[in-house]
Amino acid sequence: MYKIMTPGPTQVKKNVRLARAQECTNPDLDEAFVEFYRETCQLISSLVHTYNETLILGGEGILGLEAACASLTEPGDRVLVLDNGVFGKGFADLVSIYGGVPRLYTVDDKNPIAPLALEGFLEKDHNYKYATLIHCDTPSGILNDIGTICPLLNRYGIMTVVDSVSAMFGENVRVDDYRIDILCGGSQKVVSAPPGLAFVTISDRAKEAMTARKTPIASFYANLKAFEGYYESKWFPYTMPISDIYGLRAALDNIAGDMGILARHARIGEACRKALSEAGLKLHLETGFSNTVTVFDVPQGTTAKDILRVMREEHNILLAGSFDSLSGQVIRIGHMGSNANVSDMTKTMEALDLTMDKLGIKLRCSLKEKFCEWV
Ligand SMILES: *Cc1c(COP(=O)(O)O)cnc(C)c1O
Repeated sequence: MYKIMTPGPTQVKKNVRLARAQECTNPDLDEAFVEFYRETCQLISSLVHTYNETLILGGEGILGLEAACASLTEPGDRVLVLDNGVFGKGFADLVSIYGGVPRLYTVDDKNPIAPLALEGFLEKDHNYKYATLIHCDTPSGILNDIGTICPLLNRYGIMTVVDSVSAMFGENVRVDDYRIDILCGGSQKVVSAPPGLAFVTISDRAKEAMTARKTPIASFYANLKAFEGYYESKWFPYTMPISDIYGLRAALDNIAGDMGILARHARIGEACRKALSEAGLKLHLETGFSNTVTVFDVPQGTTAKDILRVMREEHNILLAGSFDSLSGQVIRIGHMGSNANVSDMTKTMEALDLTMDKLGIKLRCSLKEKFCEWV
């Protein structure tokens, strides 16, 4: 087995794996499951500091993003797509599929979206139904300041759809304070359950917008309104993946009981960045580093493929390359969720020392030593 130190999927703890092996009831007919489902949804809402309702959807993280766009977008709606990364840009496709008119706001991809510049843009043009924003754009690891940007969009009457799949629980998310209308999460990143589930937290304003539509939602599976009244009628729009939800609940309970989780992500993220920089590796971003993933440029004289291969074959550790425009250019260390522990990170740094040495890349100092010094 490899030690997976990737920015999703992350390591799955034993209590999460065992929770998935529990005996199953019929989730359509056993009302105890409806209670369990709702309690799990309420737990997510409390962890992201909101009174808004959360729904767990039976599909990977992407389903949450698609469900948000499918449910909000009517043909001809203008949607502001904030883009400083691969996932940021990707929202334009989802908006278009459902007939919306995306307006890409594309900015520098090595720094977070600057609220002041965005405000200048909005001053001239703010006629949008909603805006999409990525909290941590995982392929580059950039962290956008949702705590400033969402309230700003809200001041201009624009609803917000935030993808925090790879940040929430490793970075602070306060849905009510930030005025986020739909927050999207997934099971396989910081949550540290296996892939397979998405969840969305939906404001009353977003629900009203879905109700006020003049055209029907152009999807069944991605239709968030299909869940309306599920608790009262004890009826889900489709059969819930019960074992996945048992596992998710155990993973969320782990998070709820982990008081120092945000501070630990911050400490490990910072120590990792400092170690890489001091050793002479180049962090891919200039500012705006997420504490859930660290991304560095592949040094001259070797390739991403070779680094990943030596880490895998000689040290049993999986790191990630990246994709789209970053393919082959960077290496990503996912220190999120269960991966965010000093012991696994120390082993990862030590293995990177040995890997760089083997590939003939001279580091200025030992990554492991520096990491241990800073962490
Ligand atoms: C992982 C991830 C998703 C979900 O992608 P899946 O392939 O469905 O897991 C969405 N947004 C971001 C930013 C992610 O990192």
